[in-house]
Amino acid sequence: MASNKTLRFALPWLVALAILAWLALREPPQVAPPVLQREFLAMGTLVSLSLHLADGQDRSAGEAALVKIERELRDFEARWSPGGDGALGRLNSELAAGRAAPIDPVLAPLLVRAFGLREVSAGVFDPRLGALVRLWGFDDESHFLSRPPPTDVVTRLAAQIASAPAQLADCPDAAPCYGPAPGVQFDLGAIAKGEAAALAIAQLRQEGFPDAIVNLGGNLVASGARGGRPWNIGIRHPRPEGGIGVLATLHTSGTEAVMTSGDYERYFEFEGRRYHHILDPASGQPAQGLVSATVVHADGALADAASTALLVAGPQGWRETARALGISQALVVDESGRINVTAALAPRLEFAPGLAPATVVP
Ligand code: AMP
Ligand code: MG
Repeated sequence: MASNKTLRFALPWLVALAILAWLALREPPQVAPPVLQREFLAMGTLVSLSLHLADGQDRSAGEAALVKIERELRDFEARWSPGGDGALGRLNSELAAGRAAPIDPVLAPLLVRAFGLREVSAGVFDPRLGALVRLWGFDDESHFLSRPPPTDVVTRLAAQIASAPAQLADCPDAAPCYGPAPGVQFDLGAIAKGEAAALAIAQLRQEGFPDAIVNLGGNLVASGARGGRPWNIGIRHPRPEGGIGVLATLHTSGTEAVMTSGDYERYFEFEGRRYHHILDPASGQPAQGLVSATVVHADGALADAASTALLVAGPQGWRETARALGISQALVVDESGRINVTAALAPRLEFAPGLAPATVVP
């Protein structure tokens, strides 16, 4: 049973990632520019690092840089894991025990940013949903449920979280702290991949490797180019058919994040309905109406948080939420498969054969 679930979770990802890697790294017929690659599992997904070496750059220095990025992504994962004994896990333990907790300085900047994005997104992005995510069993694939939790329990917990403080407070010693806040457990899962990928790209650039992709399970930040040719990025089709899993491709320019949230990443089905891991904070239930949302932006953390926010905002609200967050390039797919894309992103996309946007909105 557990291995079936693991397979159901892992297999579509591995297929999608293989396609994305293929798209990003398609070889030209003649001479292949040197691209180093490193793949490993971290932050609950397959991480793929690609680095183009410029003329005269030392291969072993590039490889060492990628090893260092892997180590740092693992540190990042430990720090931001909602459970366990990393910085966020310890904060969550204090909150679970009903206490106020000081905020570790390594957590404060991203937590403050997440609270800010919650406010700007009118609450559709919310970093306080850890206990709800756990109640639904989406915190870990081994917890997946076979049926939804009781609606009244979900509603009560969502209401409790909604009434908790929506910013950090000053402790008596003037350091930031949070709580007591019954029901609140922090979960930065909707912003952490973007932040981690952006930090990794910034570090590679600083070390003299400006041409790279850091891809965390299809959420990626690309920088520079590959021997003068832009990186070519595939956006995953939320309902792949006939073995082709790519909805559209785009060439990145400069440093750009391409982040996608979808109802296919973690889900279970019960009585013919799909229950997935992106929750509407207002109800505590999985968001409805959209099946995927992609955001392209220079800022990785913003693009990540925004893709989650758009998915929650739904078919009626996604455009307004994007505007509020300062996002001009977005694409969403609704439950009936209709593709909607903003006018700023549409001309950059090359859609897979037979696919086209139903609407292009200003
Ligand atoms: P992403 O794949 O970036 O959309 O992030 C989804 C993850 O963020 C989920 O697995 C949860 O851990 C968490 N999450 C779920 N719903 C929300 C929400 N409305 N706001 C913020 N984080 C959420
Ligand atoms: Mg996200």
